[in-house]
Amino acid sequence: MRLILFGPPGAGKGTQANKISENYVAAHISTGDMLRSAVKNGTELGTLAKSFMDKGELVPDDVIIGIIKDRIKEGDAKQGFMLDGFPRTIAQAEALNGMLEEESESIDTVVSIEVNDEEIISRILERAKIEGREDDTEDVVRNRLNVYRNQTEPLKDFYKTEGILAEVDGMGTIDEVFDRIKEVLNKVEQ
Ligand code: AMP
Repeated sequence: MRLILFGPPGAGKGTQANKISENYVAAHISTGDMLRSAVKNGTELGTLAKSFMDKGELVPDDVIIGIIKDRIKEGDAKQGFMLDGFPRTIAQAEALNGMLEEESESIDTVVSIEVNDEEIISRILERAKIEGREDDTEDVVRNRLNVYRNQTEPLKDFYKTEGILAEVDGMGTIDEVFDRIKEVLNKVEQ
C-alpha cells in the first residue's frame, strides 16, 4: 500500500504513523524526521533546512522533492510506503505524482487527520514541554499553522479531485483515532 498521512502539525500524525507502519506498510517516510536528523548531523542539507524549520517555514520544494525521489527508490519502499509530512505543497504533490507515474504506480489513499486549531496549539505546546523541540515555541507554532492553512491544506482539494481523500476525525484517544484509520485502510486493502 502507498499512503499519505496528512494533517496539521500536532494532529498526531507521528503517533498514528508508528501504529500504521506496524500493521500495514513497510517504509515510514517522515520528511520532518529526515530533516531533523540532517540538522543533528550537521550536514549541508541540515544547515539549509534549519534556517526554515526554526521559523516554521517550509523548506524549498526542490530540496524536499530531491530527498523524496531518492528515498522512495530504496529497497524497503518498493513494497509500499507511508509518507508523513510530505507532500506539503501542490508542487510537491505534482512532483510525487510524476515520480510514481514513471514507475506505473500511484497513491492508494490520503488519510487526513482532522483536528481543530485550539486542540492543535495545546497539543503542540504540551509536546514542546516533553520533547523540547526547538520549533515548538508558541510563535513558531502559530506560523506553522498559518503555513499549513495557506500552503498545505489546499492539497485536500487536490486529492479530493483525485478521489483518494479520506477524512478521519482526529479527536479522542490514540486508539479511537487509530480504529477510524484502520477502517479506511482495511477498505483500501480489499
Ligand atoms: P514536521 O515534523 O513534519 O512537522 O516537519 C518539521 C519541519 O520540517 C516543518 O515545519 C518544515 O520546516 C520542514 N518540513 C518537513 N517536511 C516538509 C515538506 N514536505 N516540505 C517543506 N518543509 C518540510
